[in-house]
Amino acid sequence: MDTLASQLNELLPDVSIVAGDSLCWSPSAKSITYRTGDTSDENIWGLLHEAGHARLQHTSFRSDMELLELEVAAWDEAVKIGAKIGYKIDSEHIQDCLDTYRDWLHQRSMCPRCGIVTFQTTESQYNCYNCHKSWTVSASRLCRPYRLATGQKKNRLETISQTVFQAKSR
Ligand SMILES: [Zn+2]
Ligand SMILES: [Zn+2]
Repeated sequence: MDTLASQLNELLPDVSIVAGDSLCWSPSAKSITYRTGDTSDENIWGLLHEAGHARLQHTSFRSDMELLELEVAAWDEAVKIGAKIGYKIDSEHIQDCLDTYRDWLHQRSMCPRCGIVTFQTTESQYNCYNCHKSWTVSASRLCRPYRLATGQKKNRLETISQTVFQAKSR
C-alpha cells in the first residue's frame, strides 16, 4: 500500500496521502487517508478511487444525485490512474460500489409515507409530489460507504455534511 501511496503522490504532488484507519478523500485538507495494513484488491482499488476524486478536485455537491455523478467520475478517473501505474480495477467491483450508492439514493428518495420515489428539493430535504410529505436527510459523504457497514465512526471533518434519513441512521 505504501508503494502505491508514493506512486500516487508523484501523480498528485499537491495532495498529501497519509496512512490512517479508513479510506477517504478530504477536499478541505487536500489529503487522502488510506489503510496501510490492508492489501486486499478492494483497498487498493479504493485508494485509486479516492485518488480519482482528488485528481478531479471534487469538493462538494448539492444533491444526492450529484454525489452519484461524482462517484461515477471518480471511478472513471481511478481506472485511468490505475492504468498509468499498473493496476487494473475490476469493473464488477466498480458496478457493485455504484450499486451501493444507487440503493442508498433510492432509499433516501423514497417517500416514507406512500413509497413513491421522488426528488430532492434542497440539500437536506425531500418532498413527495404525491402525498406532499417532506422529510429531512443529513450527512451524505464523498467517502466510501462500506465504512458504514463496518460500523466505524468516521472523523466528521473528513465527511461532507449532507444526508441519511434522520429516522433511521445507518
Ligand atoms: Zn467516492
Ligand atoms: Zn408520499
